[in-house]
Amino acid sequence: MHDVVIVGAGPAGLTAAMYCARGGKKTLVLGNIYSSQQSMGGLYENYPGFPDGIQGIELSDRMLAQAQKYGAEYQEDQVEKIVPLRDTFRLKTENWQYEARAVILAMGASHRTIGVPGEKELTTRGVSYCVHCDGALFRGKAVAIVGYGNGAARAILYLANIAEKVHLLSSRDKLVAEPVYLDRIKKLTNYTSTFGAEITEILGDQFVTSVEYKVGNTPRSLKADGVFVEMGMQPNTELATALGLEMTPGGFVKVNRLNQETSMPGIFAAGDLTGGRLQVATAVGSGASAAISALQYLG
Ligand SMILES: Cc1cc2nc3c(=O)[nH]c(=O)nc-3n(C[C@H](O)[C@H](O)[C@H](O)COP(=O)(O)OP(=O)(O)OC[C@H]3O[C@@H](n4cnc5c(N)ncnc54)[C@H](O)[C@@H]3O)c2cc1C
Repeated sequence: MHDVVIVGAGPAGLTAAMYCARGGKKTLVLGNIYSSQQSMGGLYENYPGFPDGIQGIELSDRMLAQAQKYGAEYQEDQVEKIVPLRDTFRLKTENWQYEARAVILAMGASHRTIGVPGEKELTTRGVSYCVHCDGALFRGKAVAIVGYGNGAARAILYLANIAEKVHLLSSRDKLVAEPVYLDRIKKLTNYTSTFGAEITEILGDQFVTSVEYKVGNTPRSLKADGVFVEMGMQPNTELATALGLEMTPGGFVKVNRLNQETSMPGIFAAGDLTGGRLQVATAVGSGASAAISALQYLG
């Protein structure tokens, strides 16, 4: 039995864990720090306190260390179900179950897929969702990036240092990203782009060989050794919807923004799961707020 179990080991969950453990509560974090967006995001230049930026993986390691320093436990377990009992909650993982008097949900978000033939089949064989994990495999090769926003802009900048050629295929009519990234992209010499592109298929036998797409009704093909999908994120809400929590019209877990309470007493939520600005700084803030509310709830 724990006082608080936190589901998710990203910045929201790890901050909540640090606050709860430091507040004297028996605290457990379930999740994997290395599968968080924070760990996959590469260099964070806008998280305060690090003027030269900090790598997401280092930030995750440091946040976990700080939570553990105050006594928080950490298990790399995926929660499959949460069952409300009389005064507690039971959390089931593949091989174990835990009980808690309060639960903080911080499952973050996952990558959106394109949903075209070849994408699933060639994932890990040229199709990737993480430039920082797989970019180095494409040294001196040609890569395509599919996307339109900040994620795509950062992927372009990262891959342009590694790959021989980087080509953006975007469904939009321009790249919508922070000006600082757009300025840096303008200076690249190995970057090209196609806007208004609708991807139809990713081809390859053992590995990716090309991306098929249409501009208007005209079919086109781009030779590529790798395809990086940067289509944004969708919240990991399965546990919340199974619990019957109230959701926002946008599909996020609905919380009272003052205290991160969900529609079920004893269950709090924080981070990207609850929508809003989807940043590390805001995830940290809402994680702290959820933890303080959980401490008050526990008395
Ligand atoms: C490529 C990229 C670049 C980014 N760049 C920036 C940036 O420059 N600045 C910025 O501020 N933000 C940036 N972000 C966004 C930022 O990383 C996220 O807003 C932030 O990490 C959200 O934190 P979170 O704790 O809500 O979720 P996440 O970091 O997504 O963590 C979610 C955690 O939940 C766990 N989990 C999920 N389901 C379960 C389950 N069923 N059981 C147990 N655990 C589960 C996961 O394993 C993970 O540990 C970027 C994101 C990406 C992907």
